[in-house]
Amino acid sequence: MKADNSHSNNNELAPLILAGPCSAESEEQVIQTARAIKQHTTATVFRAGVWKPRTNPGGFEGIGLIGLSWLLQAKKETGLKTAVEVATAEHVNNALQFDTDVLWIGARTTVNPFSVQEIADALKGTDKLVLVKNPINPDAKLWIGAIERLRKVGVENIGLIHRGFSSYVKGKYRNAPMWQIPIEMKRLYPEIPMIVDPSHICGNRFDLQDIAQKGLNLGYQGLMIESHIDPNAAWTDKEQQITPRELQLLLEGLIWKKHQADEQFSQQIDTLREQINLFDDELIQLLTNRLATAQQIGNLKKENNVAVLQSNRWNEILTSMIEKGTSVGLNDQFIQAFMEIIHLESIRLQSNMNQSGID
Ligand code: PEP
Ligand code: MN
Repeated sequence: MKADNSHSNNNELAPLILAGPCSAESEEQVIQTARAIKQHTTATVFRAGVWKPRTNPGGFEGIGLIGLSWLLQAKKETGLKTAVEVATAEHVNNALQFDTDVLWIGARTTVNPFSVQEIADALKGTDKLVLVKNPINPDAKLWIGAIERLRKVGVENIGLIHRGFSSYVKGKYRNAPMWQIPIEMKRLYPEIPMIVDPSHICGNRFDLQDIAQKGLNLGYQGLMIESHIDPNAAWTDKEQQITPRELQLLLEGLIWKKHQADEQFSQQIDTLREQINLFDDELIQLLTNRLATAQQIGNLKKENNVAVLQSNRWNEILTSMIEKGTSVGLNDQFIQAFMEIIHLESIRLQSNMNQSGID
């Protein structure tokens, strides 16, 4: 990433920290927030959205062009670099005119190949850093497509932002991290830096540090985080924004992983262990969901006076899981044992409901 290589050391780029409000709201809010970020934090790039993609019309859709002039003013005054979200060719042209240093493609835009192509064409020839947020839906192909479209027009200074994925089932976070997707992106594109956006993953202020640290443990190279001079008064995403002072406390609490050669082994093993931990967390979540559904089925069976154990259904599940498992290279005996223990637990829960034992 070239947006912040002033502190590079041992050929390693310093972590890139982008911070700023979700939206530019007024000249005063932009300038005051930028000043406080400069004064209190180690962030080097000031972010603010001036065009906001809204689910429903009628919400605040961004302050528009004038916001870019406030960003430029903030940059001149503080020396911070600036970053803005672009969703159309016109946005790109405007952002370039106002000397914005970093342009990012938002999650709702990455899903649309027409928009990404339009943006890529408008970016042709620029060496500005372009950050691509993951698509809002968990489809790595769209993320890959965006990288390829940018590279095809010669845009090489690219980074990725992991901001989580929307899912039908509401979990702990506003957007499920689904770590396996950015991990796969890092495997496919080891040369492209990955940045974590804990604000949009969490949707709250309390889990930001934990998610930021998880990203760093996976070897991510930066952080984008929403910070507002007066978060409670923010026009958008107020639940997840923190003050610049709070941001600095968060940054000071993070452990940045070193990438030096003599640490290569421990770095690699830490990263792999962190992946295992995240997969285990996901397993727990999946097991919880699966067993809760089994309990719902148990209720239905009870209401309809149906036996807990339905051998045909169990046979079907087992056969299909063994088939699926072996087709991706898993051992059939392992799948069988794994499914049996899960099935036993479902039966136990359903039987407890009926208080009539397994029949
Ligand atoms: C944002 O960064 O404020 C934003 C709109 O993000 P996302 O595209 O991740 O929803
Ligand atoms: Mn936001």
